[in-house]
Amino acid sequence: MCCAGAPLIAGALGGIAVDPLRRAGHEDQDADLRPARHRRAVPHAGHPQFVYVAAKQGALVVANAFQQAARHISYRSMPRITFTSPTIASTGLTEAQADEAGMDCECRVVELADIPRAIVSRTSTGAVKLVAERQTGRVLGVHLLADGAGDAILAGVYAIDAGMTVTDLAESWDPYLTIGEGLYLAAQAFSRDLSTLSCCAV
Ligand SMILES: Cc1cc2nc3c(=O)[nH]c(=O)nc-3n(C[C@H](O)[C@H](O)[C@H](O)COP(=O)(O)OP(=O)(O)OC[C@H]3O[C@@H](n4cnc5c(N)ncnc54)[C@H](O)[C@@H]3O)c2cc1C
Repeated sequence: MCCAGAPLIAGALGGIAVDPLRRAGHEDQDADLRPARHRRAVPHAGHPQFVYVAAKQGALVVANAFQQAARHISYRSMPRITFTSPTIASTGLTEAQADEAGMDCECRVVELADIPRAIVSRTSTGAVKLVAERQTGRVLGVHLLADGAGDAILAGVYAIDAGMTVTDLAESWDPYLTIGEGLYLAAQAFSRDLSTLSCCAV
């Protein structure tokens, strides 16, 4: 209960082997960056280590244990953000994961150099990738490498949660001069040649 997303500290578990950087496994790569009280012994929970995952899991445990709520958590659209420069943000399946799961998928990649916001900001290193089920066009994954990707990824979370298709995205609104526009452009790229579109991508 005290540790939903992250594992317990070693002392409490009775001496679990860790390396000189106090790492117990590949999921603990940032162990050396943390204050001692946050160092972990072993990633026993095995779940993605994000604060919002821990919060959701903690609330679920309480509800299920004390209120017989029988709730469950879906990780299908869980966003993953890495605050590098540029930021990496993902939701849903990567192309490799879709392949591995035996799904027939189709992808489009739009380079940041083709997204007006990035051109204006002169930060054109990166890309937006959309993974969709080939037959239905259902959005399976959204991946951004861009400054501002962490803010834009929520649109991808909603698209996956709502079962939207690339056609739905392409027919939705295009928030011109934002990084979020990359999702719209990637959706357009499933059916059109982007180089023929007007400045507002219609
Ligand atoms: C450097 C760093 C940066 C991060 N950045 C982000 C980010 O930007 N976004 C994001 O979503 N997530 C981030 N995370 C991950 C996020 O902090 C964790 O996934 C989340 O805090 C896990 O929550 P938790 O409640 O399970 O564990 P914790 O927040 O670690 O809480 C566990 C608590 O249990 C206490 N405890 C441990 N053992 C015992 C014991 N035996 N007895 C009593 N108390 C004990 C600990 O002191 C701690 O207070 C980051 C993590 C680190 C280390």
